[in-house]
Amino acid sequence: MLILFVVKCSLYLYSTYALYMPRPKKLRKISNAPKFKGFRAIRLDSDKEPAPILMDYDEYEAIRLSDYVLKKQTEAARDMGISRPTFARIYESARRKLAKALSEGAPIIFQGGPVYFTSEWFLCRNCKCYFNHPDKEESSIVCPLCRSSHVRQCEQDTF
Ligand SMILES: [Zn+2]
Repeated sequence: MLILFVVKCSLYLYSTYALYMPRPKKLRKISNAPKFKGFRAIRLDSDKEPAPILMDYDEYEAIRLSDYVLKKQTEAARDMGISRPTFARIYESARRKLAKALSEGAPIIFQGGPVYFTSEWFLCRNCKCYFNHPDKEESSIVCPLCRSSHVRQCEQDTF
């Protein structure tokens, strides 16, 4: 009876924890980082520049795949390793930021976000394995073979 009570308590605690803790975002696959740190409007007057708009790399990638490479959303979502509804949300957020920047003349600054690059390679210091697609369910990068988090990113010219 006591054991059952303990199990019930821990289930309750877990469900309370799961309810209030934000779920870690899945990593989104990006084929390449933007080649610029951001953009700035050419101003005609000396008005104060509006605050910069921060655009995550996944938002940049969504705009690039949809409006530059002209991929369908299903295909673009597959490229980024996410569901189509998630892609649609990221794309909508990116379009709104872009429209705000164009309308208000605000600078755009690219920043991180939950992404990994397909051009990235890692070396596991534990088992000496090289890998380039970290487990998307993990919040930190771990080796796919031995699950060690003792990894380091390799330089591009190593390969
Ligand atoms: Zn390893």
